[in-house]
Amino acid sequence: MPTSTHLASNPPIAPSKRKRMKTIIEPFRIKAVEPIRMTSREERTRFLEDAHYNLFSLDSEHVLIDLLTDSGTSSMSANQWAAIMRGDESYAGSPSFHHFQDAVRHLMPFRHIIPTHQGRAAEKILFTAIGGPGKYILNNTHFDTTRANVEFSGAEGVDLVIAEGKNPASEHPFKGNMDLEKLEAFIKEKGAEHIPLCMLTVTNNSGGGQPVSMENIRETKYVCMKYGIPLFLDACRFAENAYFIKMREPGYENHSIEQIVQEMFSYADGCTMSAKKDALVNIGGWLAMNNDDWALNCRNLLILTEGFPTYGGLAGRDLEAMAEGLKEVVQEDYLHYRIKSTQYLGQGLIDAGIPIMRPVGGHAVYIDARQMLPHIEPLHYPGQALACEMYLHAGIRTCEIGTVMFGLQADGVTEKPAPMDLVRLAIPRRVYTQSHIDYVIEALQEINENKSAMRGMKINWQPKQLRHFSARFSYLEDESLRRKMVIN
Ligand SMILES: *Cc1c(COP(=O)(O)O)cnc(C)c1O
Repeated sequence: MPTSTHLASNPPIAPSKRKRMKTIIEPFRIKAVEPIRMTSREERTRFLEDAHYNLFSLDSEHVLIDLLTDSGTSSMSANQWAAIMRGDESYAGSPSFHHFQDAVRHLMPFRHIIPTHQGRAAEKILFTAIGGPGKYILNNTHFDTTRANVEFSGAEGVDLVIAEGKNPASEHPFKGNMDLEKLEAFIKEKGAEHIPLCMLTVTNNSGGGQPVSMENIRETKYVCMKYGIPLFLDACRFAENAYFIKMREPGYENHSIEQIVQEMFSYADGCTMSAKKDALVNIGGWLAMNNDDWALNCRNLLILTEGFPTYGGLAGRDLEAMAEGLKEVVQEDYLHYRIKSTQYLGQGLIDAGIPIMRPVGGHAVYIDARQMLPHIEPLHYPGQALACEMYLHAGIRTCEIGTVMFGLQADGVTEKPAPMDLVRLAIPRRVYTQSHIDYVIEALQEINENKSAMRGMKINWQPKQLRHFSARFSYLEDESLRRKMVIN
């Protein structure tokens, strides 16, 4: 007869030893629901017209399934909401800061943990402290705010991802890896004294959410160490990266996610973090490092722009929610569901004959709109046309990552096609169920069947930079106009 002592002596079965069934379920049940609003095609036509065909200008109330970004859009857990009530709002020395600091250090054992209101605030402080004219910051691929903050300091951001990382058809398991030969050649050419920092973005967001292998993190550290250059991780999706290592890198099958994360950070001298991704919160971030002199500078800058070092632009309750989120995000059942559900969407689109970037990354699926819509010239924005069609057809909001985002040249007038025209379907964490995703797949299947009727677009107004946020579009009127514009 099983007694309670008998039960207690049975250790829990580790998730990796558990037999998994084929059906992947959401590893949570739903305690609070948030209605999403159904609209008619007529209503959506009007909303999109009013938004000048720019999806950033839509009211989110008019969106059914919002795949614009995975940043700050996570559902928090019951335990995170409970932690919010425990938040201590003292100006200095709040226990909530210590809970946050302990949770970060458990995974990322850095000497200095500096909270910020989001990732770019950490970047701004870091590059103000260590950037500047004549310097180079190296990375696999700089995320756009990272690059902007590097450049704002006067330094130059250099991307050194492996060649496979730029080839959408390559099935390399770690397309976010740093090109170690290029890295060393660059350091030798420019001189280590001009390179205050090397970074690795895990997963590589701008490269399609592709992971970096443990071997590559280790080897990058060895190259940096040889030249006395510190290595920081841009750690936004560190847990998703760790899960890919467990799944794909020989020797890590039986490691826990925590162990993998701890090893990843053991090779780093610091990190920047947007907690809006893998800390499962709606706002927050941090900067962490071992270097005492840098930390002193950074804390002084923090006080100027963010706040006192034990809250850094956040409320005590936000620090508590991050501390709890960090415990939940390294749970294997969560990560299994997370990565598999992104792959489920990717596979559904592949089965429907829709070209996507391969292999599917951690947080998003990218449709190759240029390949899907060969009848629309890159300078007529096939990605924007597809994103608008997804909204009109089914109320789904996504983001163009292509010629609209990158095509405008530095003079603010000239335009060139971007290397690719993609539409990103970013998956918020723990928000949508499998039937929501089935709906997205069905919508794209229907769009794909009628795609020859889709028209290209033109821009009627745009600012000189970052035009994707506010440009105004309309459809090209007819075929002859489309041709004439191509010739021009
Ligand atoms: C989101 C993100 C950032 C910036 O973080 P914010 O919280 O949005 O300021 C930096 N790097 C990467 C890789 C990101 O994905």
